[in-house]
Amino acid sequence: MIIDGKKLAKKLNKNSRQRITQLRKQGIVPGIAVILVGNDPASEIYTRNKHRLARKLGINSTMYRFPDNVDQKTIINKIKELNLDNQVDGILVQKPLPSQLDGEQIINEINPEKDIDGLHPLNLGRLFAGQTGNYPIACTPQGIMTILDQYKVTLSGANVVIVGRSLLVGKPLLALLNNRNATVTFVGRHTHDFSEVTNKADILIVAAGVPGLITANNIKVGSVVIDVGINRLKSGKLTGDVDFNGVAAKASLITPVPGGVGPMTIATLMSQSVDLAYWHHIAKSKKLLA
Ligand code: NAD
Repeated sequence: MIIDGKKLAKKLNKNSRQRITQLRKQGIVPGIAVILVGNDPASEIYTRNKHRLARKLGINSTMYRFPDNVDQKTIINKIKELNLDNQVDGILVQKPLPSQLDGEQIINEINPEKDIDGLHPLNLGRLFAGQTGNYPIACTPQGIMTILDQYKVTLSGANVVIVGRSLLVGKPLLALLNNRNATVTFVGRHTHDFSEVTNKADILIVAAGVPGLITANNIKVGSVVIDVGINRLKSGKLTGDVDFNGVAAKASLITPVPGGVGPMTIATLMSQSVDLAYWHHIAKSKKLLA
């Protein structure tokens, strides 16, 4: 079966829109700030899509564009300003950043309560500690968890293999799955017997950014395959990290690229923006009054 990420995303966006309507009735307009540095074409498309969808759903999204040669201080000052702005519930810094910028310092500067990407060390630490509660979680891994839950994939006791261990995808996924009692293994470029490990996976999640990395020989019959990769081929065609046709014939469930994880990442970002606005304006004041 092919997972319909677009359909799930539509459902999640509908829910976000309803929650936004409720917040607006109380005079609260969720607000996000998107920082884009330079003119990377893929980043331009991603940020534009996020910005447009946010506005369509009723989120007040503002774009802050900086030239490729911007210095660290200018970005940090903008983040400090946004941290103090009561109309801004979430701050997003689009990656990749040019090499003169220190991405780690930039993320650390974001108020963890406004860290819409869930990449601040405090939020990652909460996730790894298995804490439940109101803190943002990286949107792609969270979107993948929603996909698995919506398609009723059993996580407890499942043997999950993740290819790629970036901070954006692989590492938060490890924590999320581990918190749900899955047995999780990372595989990377240095793994001995790569195929032997991937062949034991009940659920294989691939986030390497290498087109065609996973073929039918790398998977177990009946496994669930989640392809996170987004690669643009010379022909202009978008493709994932998985040889879709070969693997789909052997898997029980598979995400396509495009139309799988991608739409769920953006929908999760929208949903999390609403969560941040709720925590910021309502949950906090309730706590203060209690
Ligand atoms: P990254 O480059 O930060 O990390 C890639 C990881 O894969 C690293 O751990 C690297 O060691 C590993 N890797 C690279 N080549 C490998 C190989 N041949 N074998 C095994 N492991 C290998 O990338 P990222 O930000 O995690 O993104 C990964 C892919 O997912 C990219 O294609 C990116 O565009 C895509 N992505 C998609 C979404 C989405 O919403 N669908 C979101 C984020 C990233």
